[in-house]
Formats: sequence, structure tokens, C-alpha cells
Amino acid sequence: MKAFCILSVFTLLGTCATEKYSTKIENLKNSIKLVDSTKVVKYANTITSKELSKHLYKFSSDEFQGREVGELGQKLAANFLKDYYINEEIASPYEGSNYYQIIPKSFFFKDIKASENVLAFIKGSEKPEEVIIISAHLDHLGITEDGKVNHGADDDGSGTVAIMEIAQAFNQAKRDGYGPKRSILFLHLTAEEIGKMGSEFYTQHPVFPLKNTIANLNIDMIGRVDQIHENNENYIYLIGSNRLSKELHYISETVNNTYYNINIDYRYNSERDRNQYYSRSDHYNFAKHGIPVIFYFNGEHEDYHKSTDTPDKINYALLQKRARLIFATAWQIANQPNRLATDKENVLLK
Ligand SMILES: [Zn+2]
Repeated sequence: MKAFCILSVFTLLGTCATEKYSTKIENLKNSIKLVDSTKVVKYANTITSKELSKHLYKFSSDEFQGREVGELGQKLAANFLKDYYINEEIASPYEGSNYYQIIPKSFFFKDIKASENVLAFIKGSEKPEEVIIISAHLDHLGITEDGKVNHGADDDGSGTVAIMEIAQAFNQAKRDGYGPKRSILFLHLTAEEIGKMGSEFYTQHPVFPLKNTIANLNIDMIGRVDQIHENNENYIYLIGSNRLSKELHYISETVNNTYYNINIDYRYNSERDRNQYYSRSDHYNFAKHGIPVIFYFNGEHEDYHKSTDTPDKINYALLQKRARLIFATAWQIANQPNRLATDKENVLLK
């Protein structure tokens, strides 16, 4: 009997605490009001499978020799991105036509040569000091032992060309008088394949203070369909979205439910997931500093880290849809009235 009473008290307390927390979560969900919906759709629609395909056939071609960090092919890939931004008249966060954050040879181990992150920037019109980073890695695995090019069309050509198109869409909006209220940094990272060293370097030498870096949306492989989803390709894995900011998680959900209805698969977001993808791409270096992140990912497939990861195998319609989702999510974070809050800061969760 005594045991029963104690149990009852615990049960009661447990129920009250849970209800209170669920009310807070409900309030948080309800607080998210999407901004500029007509404009979001209009500019998202400038991200097209045709242009994504054009960029990706070039970026994953033999010309760039698998984009091995520090090698000629990777330098050519970095130069290709720089030329793109110059041509599009999208500025660098540095002066003039310097788009490179140079990483010296001394930062790397063994025989890795100096390399560079490539940065493009659209300054916010109202809160320029608050920065959203959209990232993807530009490097890949170089040439195989038997002389074949690792094309890396999905890994991470898909993320790279998504950023090119997302940047172009934000820039077009800006030209039309609807530039983002907060700043957006388009960050093409090097040396991911050798241990996320480009993002490690960036977070050690941030161009904008990390305390005002309000979110990182990182894209690594979004052009393919994995075996699990063969019969329903309208999906994407999201990892990390609720770890540091539930507001970010609900923004992401609301944007998707409103505009795209992609099936968001959270299985790899589980802290117990044996793949531990949360710590396996560049977003992790931002999360380590308490910056809310979302990692966008299509899962592994039979061509993962093989020379057969080629641009003809990309699902461009799906790549377009996923890139538009990321654009719309970034638009919301950049333009909503309140600064995205981490759970620690969020008054609605207090
Ligand atoms: Zn990758």
C-alpha cells in the first residue's frame, strides 16, 4: 500500500510536469509565423533542375580530378565557384575579388597542401551582424588507386550546386528590393573528406563572430535516393534540427509542411543511431560552439565514395525540391522578426 501511494505521487508529478512541457512546446510551435510566403515561393522557383544539372555536370567532371584537398583539381573547383560568384555579382565577405579563406599547410597533417574555403556573402538589410551560414563541402577524394576520377556528384557536388542556386535566388530577391534582413554566408568548405578540417578552420577563424552566427544549414549529399526509400523518393533525412533549438526544428517543419511536403525522415537524428551522422559532417563544428544546425542528407547508396558517384545518377527533380526547401528555411530564419533562439535562450521554454 505504501509503495502504491509513493508511486501515485510520482505518477501525478510526472503527468503535471509533462503537461506543462507539452504546453510550452505547443506555444513554441504556435509562435512560428511564416513570413513573405508569396516571395518565398517565387524566388524558390528560380532554383531549377536544369541549372542544378548544368552546374553539377561541370563540377563533377573529369576536369576537376575528384577535387582532392590541396591538389590542382580542388583549386580549379574553388576557382570555378569564385568565378561563378563574380559573374553573378554576389560579393565576398572580404574586400574586392578575394573569395578565399586560405588554410595554410601547417594546419593540416602529413603531406596535405594549403587549401581554401570559398565564401560568398549577402549582407542583411536590417540586422547585418546576425549571420546564417549555408554550407557544403567542395572537396572530394581525388583519383582512385587504379586511376579513376572520384566524381563526387552526390558527395558533395549536389550540396555545392544547391548553394550556388540558393545564393542566386537570394541575390535575385535582393535585386528586386527584397534582400534578406539578416546576412547570409554561402560557405563552400574544403577538407571535409579528411576530417571536417575546413569547418574546423573556419570556426577557429570565423569571418563573423560565432556568437552572432545564428544557424548553420549544412548540405552533404542531397541528389540521390537510398535503398530504404526506393519506393517513395519524396524524402530527406534531417539530422540535428532539434538538438540545440527546437524553434529551428519547428521552423523547418512548418516551412516544409507549408510549401513542399517532403517526408522528413529523422531516424538518423537519434542520439543512439550507430552511424552517428550528427558528428560526421561540417555542421558538427558549428554545433560544438552551440550554434543550431540542420544537416540535410539523402543517406548512403551503392556509389558512396566510389568513382561511380556520377552526375547522370542524380535525381534532379528531387535535388531541386530539396534545395528549394533549404532556401525557404533559410529565408524564414533570415527574415522573421525575432532572432532564432537556442533552447537555452528561448523564453517560451522557460
Ligand atoms: Zn560529403
